[in-house]
Amino acid sequence: MTQYLEALSGNVTPEMIAVAQSEFLEPEFVRREVAEGRLVIPANKVHLQKSLQPIGIGIALRTKINANLGNSALSSDAQCEIAKVQYAVKYGADTVMDLSTGADIDLIRQRIIDEVTVPVGTVPLYQVCGELEDILDMTPQHFLDAVEHQARQGVDYMTIHAGLLQKNLPMIDSRLAGIVSRGGSLTAKWMVAHRRENPFYEYFDALCEIMREYDVCWSIGDGLRPGCLHDASDAAQFGELDTMGELTHRAWKHGCQVMIEGPGHVPFDQIEMNIKRQIEVCHGAPFYVLGPVVCDIAPGYDHITSAIGATLAAYHGAAMLCYVTPKEHLGLPNMEDVRQGVIAYKIAAHAADVARQRPHARDRDDAMSRARFAFDWEEQFRLSLDPARAQEYYEESRQSTDCDERYCTMCGPKFCAMRTTQELKQIQQ
Ligand code: SF4
Repeated sequence: MTQYLEALSGNVTPEMIAVAQSEFLEPEFVRREVAEGRLVIPANKVHLQKSLQPIGIGIALRTKINANLGNSALSSDAQCEIAKVQYAVKYGADTVMDLSTGADIDLIRQRIIDEVTVPVGTVPLYQVCGELEDILDMTPQHFLDAVEHQARQGVDYMTIHAGLLQKNLPMIDSRLAGIVSRGGSLTAKWMVAHRRENPFYEYFDALCEIMREYDVCWSIGDGLRPGCLHDASDAAQFGELDTMGELTHRAWKHGCQVMIEGPGHVPFDQIEMNIKRQIEVCHGAPFYVLGPVVCDIAPGYDHITSAIGATLAAYHGAAMLCYVTPKEHLGLPNMEDVRQGVIAYKIAAHAADVARQRPHARDRDDAMSRARFAFDWEEQFRLSLDPARAQEYYEESRQSTDCDERYCTMCGPKFCAMRTTQELKQIQQ
């Protein structure tokens, strides 16, 4: 049985217990949230038998972050992508998506599943597209076969753009950036060329059967997510969202778990409205957002523009944040980009968790503050999201000085406020 069906039957599974323990919650609470569809535990039974350590994704839990990896037709190889995945997990990615579109797609996916303990997601359309000369040659059966193949390999969640319908396509005419989702644009091209409805919508029930058999969690993709501020919150985006809400119910009826993908590029003042609308339209299913990027003029720094949006999105209820690296809009990320993207999103997720007052969320911040006030540099490094970077900066700045350990080069001994405060306390005693 899937996690969802187990929860509906009143069963608390070992996976739910593991999630409860890691989140300081009661197992029965986790079961209820899964049964209500507000919490998912992406855990393909094949991956579970190998190395997967289950995590939960839901509004009641610590905010999770996903790192997208995978090669392209023009860049990188299997070894390099595996190394990036390991790097992303090392720095704290809660899940990884293999978005490979180049050579060795099958090999890369299998190795990632075999080697990582976090849930693995994919966009199965990429494999279909890679195997064909032209996406227009795709048949629905070809796609179903690819989904089943990946489910058998152990993929824990799949993004499928099933909510983009013919009636939504004319709505993109007024956009500046059209369709920016790779899966969404390929699906739309197929629909227009064949004058047919979205095949993933038409075969949704058959897809659910496969997902249920392996307990693969749905990530219903937003093919019409806005790709620039101008296009945010438009009729195309929200028209597709309505269909995603309908599909959420259909997937639940099949006993599947569901997450909903979200935008994209959204002005800061529209983020709260977007999150609340998704939660309402999709009946509380966990919202998995990409950023959102809050301004379009900072290529090279979109890990920052998007982390700002992601923090607000998580504060208002997004359950998982898909990271963005500094290379967004510019090229395939390298190892350092992955590191910066993951850390930016750990900060966004953690800031939201503190603000939402999640259990024990601030413990580490308070420990860091105590270590700072005590000038305990080793402890500060240990508590850092990126210990190596913190230590590197500290030591680099001390190299050319005879700085002792009771201040740093920022203020120096005479102006170190914490040192002065400690002296102040001694005077008061
Ligand atoms: S010198 Fe300034 S920045 Fe450095 S520890 Fe003291 S107060 Fe903090």
